Amino acid sequence: MTVVVPCFNEESVLRETHARLVRALRAGRGVTYEVLYVDDGSTDDTWSLIREFAAGSEHVRAARLSRNFGHQAACLAGLRDATGDAVVLIDADLQDPPELIPDLVSRWREGWSVVSARRTERKGEGALKRATAFAYYRLLNSMSDHPVALDTGDFRLLDRSVVDLLGELGGQELFLRGTISWAGLPETAVPYRRDPRAAGTSKYTLRKMLELSRCGIISGSALPIRATAAAGLVSAAAATVVGLARRDFGTTRWAYSLGVQTLAIGVLGEYVNATLRHAQDRPPFVVGERIQRSRTASAPQPTIAAGVAR
Ligand code: UDP
Ligand code: MG
Repeated sequence: MTVVVPCFNEESVLRETHARLVRALRAGRGVTYEVLYVDDGSTDDTWSLIREFAAGSEHVRAARLSRNFGHQAACLAGLRDATGDAVVLIDADLQDPPELIPDLVSRWREGWSVVSARRTERKGEGALKRATAFAYYRLLNSMSDHPVALDTGDFRLLDRSVVDLLGELGGQELFLRGTISWAGLPETAVPYRRDPRAAGTSKYTLRKMLELSRCGIISGSALPIRATAAAGLVSAAAATVVGLARRDFGTTRWAYSLGVQTLAIGVLGEYVNATLRHAQDRPPFVVGERIQRSRTASAPQPTIAAGVAR
């Protein structure tokens, strides 16, 4: 198993994180593990700490991104580098308790491809952050064809089949949670209490939060552009009907022309959307399970294989 830890300027907390991670992973008997730190362009002592951990343990690997690419990109870098048959994504600031990892692993062993950690409580996060997160995820789910589970973040375990799928896809407009729910593989959740950050301050600035929110909507929903086209169509049609009824198009001309222009933007948006879907490079389907028959006469039993195929 690989535990991927994206880190951006986490020098104040990383020592404690490493100690708790190692303790929790050692406690999970029978699991061979590696911890893969991804330094997302830190400008503090994060990388020297990671080097120190790697020098002291053969279980530690690390990658340092050339600059700050953002949390989702750092997670993807970790997923592409991970070698484990399951991968856990966990924040570096101890808001996600490492002690939950053995629980995630035992659900995975029951056969779940994705085991999310679901927050039952969020301590130490401001009312504004909680309220905007609450509203945003409900808005996103009402728009998206593949809703993401509420009250879950990126703290989750992914089976190798999911990791391979995510690693192969286009890495732009990245919103891992959305892609995971799009894949539609068996997903379950383990509840936990989200602690406050152990030290330091949030590395998710308002700009990064807005960027993530934008990616969530753009990568998972065509509704904004469809709504634009529909509004244009309705406006142009209504202006035509009213004009015909009054036998006078003078007063409705502006509504008609605005409607046609809006519709044209919506149509253009459909083409842009098709290009985006192409760039996302998602496979047309994901195989969840297969029943295969052995070709040798001596072993006529069907074998059931779970996994993802392109
Ligand atoms: N992070 C990152 N790159 C960034 C911002 C954050 O790798 O540009 C990491 C950060 O070090 C932490 C995780 O992403 O491990 C979550 O960030 P943070 O705890 O600051 O976000 P919050 O919990 O406040 O939303
Ligand atoms: Mg945090």
